[in-house]
Amino acid sequence: MDPQEVLQRFKLHSGGGTLRVVSPIDGSELSRVQETSPQELAQIIEKAEHAFKKWRLVPAPKRGELIRLFGEELRAHKEDLGALVTLECGKILQEGLGEVQEMIDICDFAVGLSRQLYGLTIASERPGHRMMETWHPLGPVLVISPFNFPVAVWCWNFALAIVCGDSVIWKPSEKTPLTALATLSLFEKALKKFNASLDLLLLVVGDSDLGKPLVESPKISLVSATGSVSMGKAVAQSVAARLGKSLLELSGNNAMILTPSADLELAIRAIAFSALGTTGQRCTTLRRLIVHKSLYDQVLKRLSQIYKHVPVGNPMEVKTLMGPLIDQRSFDEMQVALKEAGSQGGHVQGGERILEEKYPKAYYVRPALVTMKTQTEIVRKETFAPILYVIPYEDFEDALKMQNDVPQGLSSCIFTNDIREAETFLSARGSDCGIANVNIGPSGAEIGGAFGGEKETGSGRESGSDVWKNYMRRATNTINYSKELPLAQGIHFDMEEK
Ligand code: NAD
Repeated sequence: MDPQEVLQRFKLHSGGGTLRVVSPIDGSELSRVQETSPQELAQIIEKAEHAFKKWRLVPAPKRGELIRLFGEELRAHKEDLGALVTLECGKILQEGLGEVQEMIDICDFAVGLSRQLYGLTIASERPGHRMMETWHPLGPVLVISPFNFPVAVWCWNFALAIVCGDSVIWKPSEKTPLTALATLSLFEKALKKFNASLDLLLLVVGDSDLGKPLVESPKISLVSATGSVSMGKAVAQSVAARLGKSLLELSGNNAMILTPSADLELAIRAIAFSALGTTGQRCTTLRRLIVHKSLYDQVLKRLSQIYKHVPVGNPMEVKTLMGPLIDQRSFDEMQVALKEAGSQGGHVQGGERILEEKYPKAYYVRPALVTMKTQTEIVRKETFAPILYVIPYEDFEDALKMQNDVPQGLSSCIFTNDIREAETFLSARGSDCGIANVNIGPSGAEIGGAFGGEKETGSGRESGSDVWKNYMRRATNTINYSKELPLAQGIHFDMEEK
């Protein structure tokens, strides 16, 4: 697919702004995008507040209709938007299309949800009383999104926030503003069909500094931020300083425990997809393979072949399974990590730059397979690149301990046919992650479940299940339909009026 054609379809080719957008595929400039100025931020917040005040009065199923229309636009433009995702962030086309499909899925979910925003009725201890919970729209929601899922992660937040009655300010990654602009244009089409001219989605384009005043604003009811731990710490502190609400989805350092009873064919396929997919640039990427010593040699031999031969190249080409890294910084960080692994006793295979002649301004690498005797400091860090550390274990309890002994707690999995191991892994003393799978790799979650992690990953939950509650405020209502005024806890407070 011709990049210019893809850009033209969304009228993004001409640019005319100051933010240079570069494709990681070949380092070429895609466009120059207009940046939001810091002076515009106050007005953007005001617009979001104004839109919220109107939108919260629209019945929730009607709000769902807007997301249904948005989902239709996404269906109609899936190929184009998927190609743009690939062009801008470098994931292979299959994954670019998958990302748009994930947006469509969450829209479908949100449409159904718009008729299910229900609260509880609670038994009152007082006669002639009824207690209930009501869920109300929350306010303007700020969504900060990362480069590696430029639209899907945002859409998890957006689709739910809109049916919940909120307005949304979106601060996409400065590396991927084009997909955000294209998505905004599709949403505007849906708004037109819905016959509404509300500022329900406002875009803030530019670098991380622009996010800071938004995060600090008490007018923002929820900050939902996805990205690195360092970003999460900065955001969490600013929001906590004003006693605001935040939802954080941060780095992962995900492991697989590969046990003697595992179905190796399944496991090898799962390792390949979850360690190599998106060039190791997924929050759920498999980074640590904790493998039983009885399988160690044969697993390593098979992985070694896969790592040597996996097709790396232009992500637009059908045969490619691994595209480029996002930029030079990412490549440099990968090299530093591999050097550290070497100095900490690791043996490194791969990891070198390739295709440099063909793409001198882009960063393609062979994925790196690193054998370690133990889980050293570098293994406990998230390096956002295709590095898989392989560590042997003898005793299942040791493997479990190793799996949990990292600062992050996003995703995890075990491959086993032993029910005791599987159930222990899922039990309270098993995996300490937000996602724990059996005989499935750690990446590629469905939208129906609550997605997120513990510890340094930030404890946020997005997407399915009852996550919608994050985007609403809960009111507890007690109604007295009796002719008495009994007090809770049996308290007497009888007054004589003079
Ligand atoms: P990043 O932290 O560099 O940037 C993410 C976003 O935060 C960008 O939009 C950036 O402009 C903004 N930002 C950075 N500092 C900020 C600040 N102080 N205030 C406000 N906004 C700020 O992350 P990245 O490199 O784009 O993405 C990769 C990281 O994201 C990895 O660590 C990955 O694990 C993580 N991630 C997590 C999840 C999850 O669901 N847990 C999903 C995808 C990516």
